[in-house]
Amino acid sequence: MNIHEYQAKELLAKFGVPVPAGFAALSVEEAVEASKKLPGPLYVVKAQIHAGGRGKGKFKELGPDAKGGVRLARTEEEVRAAAADMLGNTLVTVQTGEAGKQVNRLYVTDGVDIDKEFYLALLVNRATGRISMVASTEGGMDIEEVAHSTPEKIHTIDIDPATGFMPHHGRSVAAALELTGDLAKQAAFTASKLYDAFLGTDAAQIEVNPLAVTGDGKLMVLDAKVGFDSNAMFRHKNLAELRDETEEDPMELEASKYDLAYIKLDGDIGCMVNGAGLAMATMDIIKLNGMFPANFLDVGGGANKEKVTAAFKIILSDPAVKGILVNIFGGIMRCDIIADGIVAAAKEVNLSVPLVVRLEGTNVQQGKDILANSGLPIVAANDLGDAAQKIVAEVKQVA
Ligand code: GDP
Ligand code: MG
Repeated sequence: MNIHEYQAKELLAKFGVPVPAGFAALSVEEAVEASKKLPGPLYVVKAQIHAGGRGKGKFKELGPDAKGGVRLARTEEEVRAAAADMLGNTLVTVQTGEAGKQVNRLYVTDGVDIDKEFYLALLVNRATGRISMVASTEGGMDIEEVAHSTPEKIHTIDIDPATGFMPHHGRSVAAALELTGDLAKQAAFTASKLYDAFLGTDAAQIEVNPLAVTGDGKLMVLDAKVGFDSNAMFRHKNLAELRDETEEDPMELEASKYDLAYIKLDGDIGCMVNGAGLAMATMDIIKLNGMFPANFLDVGGGANKEKVTAAFKIILSDPAVKGILVNIFGGIMRCDIIADGIVAAAKEVNLSVPLVVRLEGTNVQQGKDILANSGLPIVAANDLGDAAQKIVAEVKQVA
């Protein structure tokens, strides 16, 4: 689960991480009011969307010469103009995809004079089983480019959660950022507070870019991207409230309401499968037969009629879907019950694309009979390979 920059900074500040003062704003007037509460003379007006690269982003409605989603302002008029330019418009960045994201919220912060920009991120390192801090002197907007062309400028410092953050970790971060003296102390302090925040919130990632040295020699977090481990949200009710559903994929959101594990993909074949492993195998075999899955969808072990219907509706609401492959193993759930669900769902949603169903397991014959006698153009398949060949053939025939 990801949160907005303004929420991330408010959260980090609670853990003692130095961030500039700022206020969120939902309207131009609120943005102007926010700037009045800040000391000035420089303000930063920032689009709040769940994507990075805002500074270099472009607004669809404003043309190629307009500035991006992070703007410096020196007067009330400039704050007003920046806010009016952004609110309601669609910001396209390297991370949003072509469709971009509508800006509904701004963050107006105290603008600082920047001397140097660093990069500092924390993440769970699965390979080492530790928390990694990734530090680079090359902060700012293009860390992906740095990683690509000058990987030696990116330093990784592993922290064993058993010992926690130790003074030497702080020194390593400072050394990676090539800092000495008081700034080295500030880097160690900030890194330790970020570590506390990471652990204390069950974060999956904290990415600070830039971590800036200000004109008056202070180290500050100017941009922060924070994401949490969704499986730990049950023990952070206050953090769960930070979720902004308008930032999430509408189909994935709908799926989560029915407890369906759904991920939208780029292909043509909608998949409905029970069990993550079977779902992966189904996607593989569709690829093996020359087409691509339109989604990953695990309806879970206890799929019932309601879940199957919801899953069908979600798959069909994707205009890219040209055919559906249902692959269910009736273990806990009997095949006849699944078949009833499929028939009812297919009738309810007015099925408009070919549907191939492969059932296996308890009461499989009764299930197949239900499908065969349904009067619906459902193609039955005997095994996984057969199912994949049949759906690909059906889709190609229609096309
Ligand atoms: P991103 O483009 O989505 O990563 O947004 P950031 O918040 O990182 O801002 C992009 C860039 O705007 C930063 O790398 C800075 O160069 C600049 N910027 C952000 N805040 C300030 C500020 O307070 N003062 C100045 N001078 N520049 C800033
Ligand atoms: Mg940034």
